[in-house]
Amino acid sequence: MTTAERRTDDPAAVLDSVPLGAFVGGTWTDTGRTFPVEDPATGEVLAAVADCGPDEARAALDAAAAAQPALAATAPRERAELLRRIHELLLRDRERLATIITLEMGKPVAESRGEVAYAAEFFRWFSEEACRIEGSYATSPDGRGRILVTRRPVGPCLLITPWNFPLAMGARKIAPALAAGCTSVVKPAEQTPLTMLALAALLEEAGVPAGAVSVLPASDPEAVADPVLADPRLRKLSFTGSTEVGRHLIRRSADQVLRVSLELGGNAPFLVFEDADLDAAVEGALVAKMRNGGEACTAANRFLVHDAVADEFARRLAERMAALVVGRGTEPGVDVGPLIDGPARDRVVGLIEEATAGGAQVRTGGAALPGAGYFLEPTVLTDVPAGAEMTRTEIFGPVAPIQRFDDTDAAVAAANDTPYGLVSYVYTRDIDRALAVCEALEAGMVGLNRGVVSDPAAPFGGVKQSGLGREGGRVGIDEFLETTYVALPR
Ligand code: NAD
Repeated sequence: MTTAERRTDDPAAVLDSVPLGAFVGGTWTDTGRTFPVEDPATGEVLAAVADCGPDEARAALDAAAAAQPALAATAPRERAELLRRIHELLLRDRERLATIITLEMGKPVAESRGEVAYAAEFFRWFSEEACRIEGSYATSPDGRGRILVTRRPVGPCLLITPWNFPLAMGARKIAPALAAGCTSVVKPAEQTPLTMLALAALLEEAGVPAGAVSVLPASDPEAVADPVLADPRLRKLSFTGSTEVGRHLIRRSADQVLRVSLELGGNAPFLVFEDADLDAAVEGALVAKMRNGGEACTAANRFLVHDAVADEFARRLAERMAALVVGRGTEPGVDVGPLIDGPARDRVVGLIEEATAGGAQVRTGGAALPGAGYFLEPTVLTDVPAGAEMTRTEIFGPVAPIQRFDDTDAAVAAANDTPYGLVSYVYTRDIDRALAVCEALEAGMVGLNRGVVSDPAAPFGGVKQSGLGREGGRVGIDEFLETTYVALPR
């Protein structure tokens, strides 16, 4: 057993391993102010972390701007090796990091282990991409000139991440930024800063140059984000979070005409046709709904099921959801942890109440659990009225509303009837229908007979109000690169 594994037996020892200062310009800084981080399974305070404001934000951007030219000038292979070391450190500390994620975010530790592996894979993928930044050289069509095209790093970036995947959402930005040669200032979500601070310590250990990545926990996001966004040295914003905050940050980015990447909210439809393999559809539904306890942008939000199989699908899904074990994520055998906080749970309970008042039937679950922590029973609802609020908004909790359809066009129209367009799921065995429906769905990603789409080697992102740009895949690094064209005579 390694030291890191031994430490995971004792949450207190794991927490002791996390630096609680801000990581500014390669130095751990005591800001003189702190804010509490809560365990959503107990409501108890886990730690008090440094609270950053405009002074630390400016210092981090100073460091990022100072480190930018040297980082841009490093050999791609050097950046690749650095990213590879980070990948290996994440795997070395997998158990410790998984425990930190579970303590501050609540998901079962098995899922946190999966998140660490997913995050580590972004560093490996982008270590491979760092050496594949390509340009081109061509004769102009009229034969009178040459066209030389090269790529270079966009420059210092602000990276803002959410609480639901506190490690992976940071990895998905930090890895391509470093691969491209961009420095960054990272602002983790106020609910889950410990994971990002633990990552900062590993970046330091791997040899990331001082100033290339700073991590600024803050109780007031605007106190850090606004001064950085207003500074002309910043060149890019990459944000993952709610559509509402994303919209606000587009406005904030206008003054400096920043490059902007946004991974925002979703309202994923999950379509089950009459010819679907029902066992596979129920299995996929369980994963698409319950991964991360439903607190995922990719979570299936509306189950649209053909009349011919709707009753059987609802029965089987309710049976599987009822069998899930709800509890503290650090306990063995737990399938579903708490929601992130009290307001989040109350909001989801409110959505259930609104739907049932309108005629929805509770097939399983439906209530918050009494006692400490923010637990909610896995819930399946049928006969959900067309206008129910939970079908229009992101539920962000363990609730599966089932609606019926009787015709493919109606199913696609219902699926697209949302301002969001992140992901859709489709279950059918008819290849012609599968392709036609995949083409008609307004979504950046489609899971065809599959309940999970996330893959570091695939382009992740949405259309409509689910965002701008893609993370991961071959295109993920493009978000951090500028194109330069040099015109030459011939
Ligand atoms: P959120 O928008 O409330 O917060 C996200 C981040 O933005 C946090 O770090 C927060 O501190 C910061 N923030 C909030 N207000 C800000 C402001 N005015 N200026 C600067 N920063 C600000 O979202 P959340 O509740 O943390 O995360 C859940 C949301 O994230 C959901 O909508 C979910 O769908 C979305 N999400 C999307 C993806 C994706 O890839 N599309 C992935 C994960 C989560």
